[in-house]
Amino acid sequence: MVRIAIAGLLHETNTFAPMITTYADFAGDSPEMPHIHKPEDLLGLKGTHANVSTAGFLDVMSDQGHELVPLMLASAQPASTVTKDAFDRLTGQMIDLLREKGPFDAVYLELHGAMVTEEYEDAETEIQRRVRSVVGNVPVVATFDLHGNIPQMAVDEFDALVGYRTYPHIDVYETGVRAACLMQHLLERKPIFKAYIQLPYLIAPSTASSFTEPCISIYKKLEQIEKGDGVLSVTFMHGFLLSDIYHAGPSLFTYGTTQEAADNALDQLYDVLMDYEGGFAQRMYSPDEAVERAMKIAEWAEKPVVLADVQDNAGGGGTSDTVWVLDALVRHNARDAALGLMYDPEAAKKIHIAGVGAQIELDLGGKLMPGHSPFHGRFTVEQLFEGDFDPTGPVGRGMKANLGKMAHIRIGGVHIVVSSVRAQMNDRSFFRVVGIEPEKMKIVVVKSTNHYRAEFQPIAQEILIVEAPGAHIENPRILPYKKLREGVRLGALGPEFRK
Ligand SMILES: [Zn+2]
Repeated sequence: MVRIAIAGLLHETNTFAPMITTYADFAGDSPEMPHIHKPEDLLGLKGTHANVSTAGFLDVMSDQGHELVPLMLASAQPASTVTKDAFDRLTGQMIDLLREKGPFDAVYLELHGAMVTEEYEDAETEIQRRVRSVVGNVPVVATFDLHGNIPQMAVDEFDALVGYRTYPHIDVYETGVRAACLMQHLLERKPIFKAYIQLPYLIAPSTASSFTEPCISIYKKLEQIEKGDGVLSVTFMHGFLLSDIYHAGPSLFTYGTTQEAADNALDQLYDVLMDYEGGFAQRMYSPDEAVERAMKIAEWAEKPVVLADVQDNAGGGGTSDTVWVLDALVRHNARDAALGLMYDPEAAKKIHIAGVGAQIELDLGGKLMPGHSPFHGRFTVEQLFEGDFDPTGPVGRGMKANLGKMAHIRIGGVHIVVSSVRAQMNDRSFFRVVGIEPEKMKIVVVKSTNHYRAEFQPIAQEILIVEAPGAHIENPRILPYKKLREGVRLGALGPEFRK
């Protein structure tokens, strides 16, 4: 029997976003990545099949009879750079626990892969260095969100790494299972060889859903490659282009029982990604174009038209309070339209005080993006909610959500869900909890880049991608990069980056 420590520290850092990430952001609640501090909570994940890597890892490793010692797991909602103070305190807690509860024969880390701190462009490798300084030369395996920006150094320093294969991320549990298989291989002291490469182009998140092409075909091929002789694991990281760091962008890494097996798998996967580059280019609509088109389709459609406000995605550091699409809906007099989530705690408070049935004049949203202004209007308060509720879709499976004071307000035929927690619209329950049935609407606006697809694609007549200004910019050509490596293409088939 071996003793395995389990710890996690997750953050997706959008270095272009306006809000920095402090220790308090990790200490608070995050509805998307549940913030689980206590070891007993982590052990409680065993057998739940919750959409968390640690749950998958725990299930496999406890079946092998190993002693699992969860230490801590902390996460914060995506935003800008993590402060040195937050990083040092959180890794300090992890290191203290490793010392106190050790020694350990192995360590499993649940990470994101795109954390940038005031000191480190590649914070995950620094976490590994700090962990290694305590545990010594034992296997350390980590799982990553596929939006991690992974440099060669990370592949060198960790014994093995595994990334998600779905976007929306609905295989987080299975990623933990795959990490456990690699860990078991390492614990049996069997040989493992690595290979790594970065792609020469950046990928816009809204083009990279595993529910649509080209990713459907790419992942099919990836799974065939992984079945190859001597191949242990194959990962395609999409990367995260909202990060002004040298190594931002997609990367591939493979593990094999021989160097040749790892290299061959990498070559094959690289060829696949180069063949499909053109598939990652996509049509985007201005808010006016999108609303006009949606209203036309709605005249005959039986299902709602979904407008994805992809650049105001809280899950990627967006403020989730921009009002461009809301403004277009109201100006065009759209009917049976619903929009969520509009993050505005100040407005939510006022609406709760006004009460159901009240008419209330508000400056809604538009408060967090520099240069943007609120939407002013008179709204009817339709329904209120506050407290825990259960997400019903595959992304939030097995977790509790709590978006603080929530409200359903209406202006003309436009219904808005106001929240007091900044979160991405990825679950139909976020509408339903305040009395909106998204399936019955003609137009549904989701502030999300891609995670909405698991829940909203099945009910959508059509999905239109909206290019409204926001902090989660999809088009890398307009991002003011300074540190990105020269020569990488700014989007599929895009121009090369030059300083
Ligand atoms: Zn992600």
